[in-house]
Amino acid sequence: METVVKKNDLVEITIEDIGSDGEGIGKYQGYTLFVKDTTVGDRAIVKVIKTGKTYGFARLMELVKPSEYRVEPRCPIASKCGGCQLQHMDYAKQLEYKENKVRNCLTRIGGFCDIPMEPICGMEEPYYYRNKSQFPVGKRRDGGVAIGFYAGRTHSIIDTERCYIGAEVNTDILRFMRSFIEQYHIEPYEEETHQGLLRHILTRVGYRTGEVMVCLVVNGRDIPHKEELIKGLREIPGMKSICLNVNQSKTNVILGETIVPLWGESYITDYIGDIAYRISPLSFYQVNPVQTKKLYDIALLYADLHGDEVVWDLYCGIGTISLFLAQKAKMVYGVEIIPQAIEDAKRNAQINNIRNAEFFVGAAEEVLPAKYQEENIHADVIVVDPPRKGCAQSLLDTILKMAPKKVIYVSCDPATLARDLKYLCEKDYELTKVRAVDQFSHSVHVETIILLQRLEA
Ligand code: SAH
Repeated sequence: METVVKKNDLVEITIEDIGSDGEGIGKYQGYTLFVKDTTVGDRAIVKVIKTGKTYGFARLMELVKPSEYRVEPRCPIASKCGGCQLQHMDYAKQLEYKENKVRNCLTRIGGFCDIPMEPICGMEEPYYYRNKSQFPVGKRRDGGVAIGFYAGRTHSIIDTERCYIGAEVNTDILRFMRSFIEQYHIEPYEEETHQGLLRHILTRVGYRTGEVMVCLVVNGRDIPHKEELIKGLREIPGMKSICLNVNQSKTNVILGETIVPLWGESYITDYIGDIAYRISPLSFYQVNPVQTKKLYDIALLYADLHGDEVVWDLYCGIGTISLFLAQKAKMVYGVEIIPQAIEDAKRNAQINNIRNAEFFVGAAEEVLPAKYQEENIHADVIVVDPPRKGCAQSLLDTILKMAPKKVIYVSCDPATLARDLKYLCEKDYELTKVRAVDQFSHSVHVETIILLQRLEA
């Protein structure tokens, strides 16, 4: 089929949107082109590299007129690294883009008009916010050690000394680890040959407590020169836990199942609001604690609890939202599919002396319908926080039957959110509040929290 452009054509376009990997999207005579390294508002000459029936890909050749929203990325490897996609875009514009993404999904997929959107909740400091980082270790072409990040969609490591969205202490940790590896000839792991020892450096930092954990992922069960390793790492302020994670599998899954403690505690502690959480190397924990606190405060506000409500928190992870809401509810029940996460949730309830929270292991779409059928359970508020694919329809059907006054939906994918809301709002619910929250500045991801209220019969 003939397309308006063919391979190697040079055309001039204006970038009007951003794709899911942060690439610019523009149209030439109605034909859509995806162009890496461009941003909304750029006027550019691009070279077509691949064409399909309805869209194609092109490379940036010349910026005829740079977008007014373009900024110089702080990080020198921002355009190569797979971690950040939007660093070259002004932060205020990033927020506007994310808010629009949510609004568009709700309009186009959800069929909503008059969307009750509250202004997006952005970050005050959109750098150095992540409390967890995983740096792959490998060999450079010249034989030296490479520690850094994977280039977008590949496994080649870009050597770096600093990550501008990770905790600042990582820079000290990386500097020490680089000199340790070089001095004692620690062999970096090689994916192709499955040889070598050190695979990843995992760090976790308690944002409030300042506690630091370093966990080295090794293709073995031990590491040479442990004493020197521990001595050096202990000089880093806040160091609380040093351990190994054993991963001897030929896999690109980062962590194995076994932890070998080397020094200190096997966990660090951090707080969201007044609730303490124990975080071990394998635990799931929200990566942006400052924005998570804001997200949960919004959940609390939307739930409007007075002390006599029963809340179900589905997809509860380690019980973070459950415990937060338990401060104001009569009883909270959490459901989560991963057994270890439920163990963490129970222990977190204990260390905070929270007695009005109970947790169940299992798929939300199985546990809730079964409990409803067998025990006729009741809920005043149901919270869901599903993974990207959203909620199973059988779960939505049970929610409709249980008829809670309020449903709070926390979502990391506005498209599946819109699909599920459409289903609930065709029946007995009304969309009363929508708020996007930026949990991941410089990435294309956006978190949304919404409130549905049951229509009076
Ligand atoms: N609410 C938590 C975690 C949300 S992430 C927090 O705020 O920290 C989504 C969670 O859903 C993950 O912990 C994942 O393990 C869990 N999950 C995935 N599929 C599930 C299912 N079908 N039923 C219950 N939990 C599920």
